[in-house]
Amino acid sequence: MADVIEREGRVHLPVYARQPLVIVRGSGCWVWDDEDRRYLDLVAGIAVNVLGHSHPAVAEALAAQARTLLTTSNLYYTLPQLELAEMLLARSPFDRAFFTNSGTEANEAAIKLARRHGNPRGAYEIVSLTGSFHGRTLGSLAATGQPKYAAPFAPLPEGFIHVPINDTDALLGAVGERTAAILLEPIQGESGIHPLTDAYLMAAREAADRVGALLILDEIQTGIGRTGTFFAFEQTPVVPDVVTLAKGLGGGVPIGAMLVRESASSFQTGDHGTTLGGNALTAAAAIATLRVIDDEGLLDKARERGAQFAAALTGADHITEVRGKGLMIGVETSGPFARSAVAIARDQHALLINATGDSTLRLVPPLVISPQEVDEAVDRLLAALAEAAEA
Ligand SMILES: *Cc1c(COP(=O)(O)O)cnc(C)c1O
Repeated sequence: MADVIEREGRVHLPVYARQPLVIVRGSGCWVWDDEDRRYLDLVAGIAVNVLGHSHPAVAEALAAQARTLLTTSNLYYTLPQLELAEMLLARSPFDRAFFTNSGTEANEAAIKLARRHGNPRGAYEIVSLTGSFHGRTLGSLAATGQPKYAAPFAPLPEGFIHVPINDTDALLGAVGERTAAILLEPIQGESGIHPLTDAYLMAAREAADRVGALLILDEIQTGIGRTGTFFAFEQTPVVPDVVTLAKGLGGGVPIGAMLVRESASSFQTGDHGTTLGGNALTAAAAIATLRVIDDEGLLDKARERGAQFAAALTGADHITEVRGKGLMIGVETSGPFARSAVAIARDQHALLINATGDSTLRLVPPLVISPQEVDEAVDRLLAALAEAAEA
């Protein structure tokens, strides 16, 4: 491990605060390091590996597609991309799809779509939330309401307005004739699992309709069954005009998507595009992922295992609050020891968890996690919290 850390430090830009762990393989909810130590993984590539690691259905779809056709550019039609679009639209209220390679690109597409939609009436502003996270490219970064990510890169694109979460008056005050879209995560992920209230989402829907703006939901983290329904908005009273997806969509391979209702479908030929987005390889992995989600009943399982986690963690020692839905779980610790709990969990209890703040942990395990693995994870987590609280 020391050798890997030293070599990486010479060659990679130092943008990542990596933990001292070299992961060499994975299976289900478990990963192995370079000394063959096994860890229970509640990070899952940050809410990416919905089927766990090395699911045979994804591995086989990738191998078969790799032998058949990898990519063609979007100058031609390909069948996996078409089939994936049909599958996503069949299970949603949307009418059209566009595929990308990442989450931030899906949001860039949505921002451009909103600008295109608002252009005839001079509307260009995107209203989003303080504490939100929408990605690292300049448009998504401008929408992200966290100055720490954006400040060194000023000036960012104009026309992005941030309002505090769940504050309806602030939202209504910010939405007007110039608003092209309201962009929201149904549950903020990066900033520590903060759900929007139904009342707030309804106010956003009404405000968008009142001025002719689009309601865009960034479901890059909440989507693909993470919260116990395929989209998190299915558990709310609103239906957005546009939704963005990525993370779990490919079961671990890089693919994102923007899904759009016909009424918001303002792109014309040439307005947007990508060379590799929606290529046959990643589309095949996404198709396999969606099939397994259905075949293994993973939406129900996400709800059940999420309830199991919540029941076991709520009121436990050193935990003051448990938030979230399904297997998107935020745990508030009773003191600022979340980051040391991450290290103790990893090194002493072979458990991988993520801290989003000094006293907030994020648990986003594979949706295939078993009841026994949840019990095991809870035991390890509570032991790590007890040690971190003492230290
Ligand atoms: C991870 C994430 C993104 C960015 O996705 P990338 O694939 O890292 O570009 C955007 N929005 C939300 C809500 C996310 O969780």
